[in-house]
Amino acid sequence: MPEIEDLRGQTMGGDRKRSEIHHIARHHSASNGGDVWTFEEYWREQRGWETGGYHEIILRDGTVQLCYDHDVITNGVANHNSTTYHICVVGNGDFTEEQEHVFDERAEYNLDRFGLSTSDLLGHNEFSGTSTGCPGTDMDQVRSRLDGESEESDSEGSSDSDESGSSDDSGDDLLRRGDSGPEVEELQNDLMEVGESLPSYGADGIFGQETEEAVRNFQNRADIQVDGIVGPETRAALEEEMSGQSGLPRGTYRQGSRGEAVRKIQQALEDVNFSPGPIDGIYGPQTEDAVRRFQEVHVPHEVDGIYGPNTRAALEDELS
Ligand SMILES: [Zn+2]
Repeated sequence: MPEIEDLRGQTMGGDRKRSEIHHIARHHSASNGGDVWTFEEYWREQRGWETGGYHEIILRDGTVQLCYDHDVITNGVANHNSTTYHICVVGNGDFTEEQEHVFDERAEYNLDRFGLSTSDLLGHNEFSGTSTGCPGTDMDQVRSRLDGESEESDSEGSSDSDESGSSDDSGDDLLRRGDSGPEVEELQNDLMEVGESLPSYGADGIFGQETEEAVRNFQNRADIQVDGIVGPETRAALEEEMSGQSGLPRGTYRQGSRGEAVRKIQQALEDVNFSPGPIDGIYGPQTEDAVRRFQEVHVPHEVDGIYGPNTRAALEDELS
């Protein structure tokens, strides 16, 4: 998993928001080095921009600078910015293997979360009305590489060992700032479950400043070492606190959610005879279907398969 430097909220501007994303654009920086801070100086002073160019920048060493949240409109491709997510790879027509590897990971992750396919990934100069050498690479090659990889990961995904294997490549079992992925999302849900808040980004699977602060708050409250890193001690404290809570989770959970809170929802559904399938802490199609069936009977004005306050109240009624 790539090292992610979460700079959202520290980069310039970012005030214009949107609700739809149709494309991901790949750019190069047309420089041999630099990072968001050197680029910002150029954008501000030479171009007079108020917001930067890219949502993510992949540095020469493969580090990802996460500059803006996905709903922010940046300056990447004129006339296409309101629906495009921009990723820049630092380099001038020549990129390191590490950068390409990280680009593939970030492109896949983002295409997936925006519900887009590989054909929606374009080089800057593939957008209509553009005339530029950017992104300095053959996008057909990039796309076919991604298609090949997603087939590979699909077949890996069909084996049951995928879930347990994924924690191995992180090198240790610690979660800390810069990490990303489903384990981080699960941690974030658990943190919210025990009452910590993640007001700006919620459970987005990215361990940034906000998540680190929530971990520190929790560690402080649990009276354990306050270092913002999640290891065995913090996990144990989290589990202890969650197991002590008898009530149903208070957040909003939907397909894709994971963690102890989801397990509780599943157990409650099972207890009121709307079986969600395996009680595994993963809010998949079967859990969604169970929530929907429960809602049809008990919350008929809100049959959406999403667990929220009304469904919680109805479940609590049924359980008592
Ligand atoms: Zn470009």
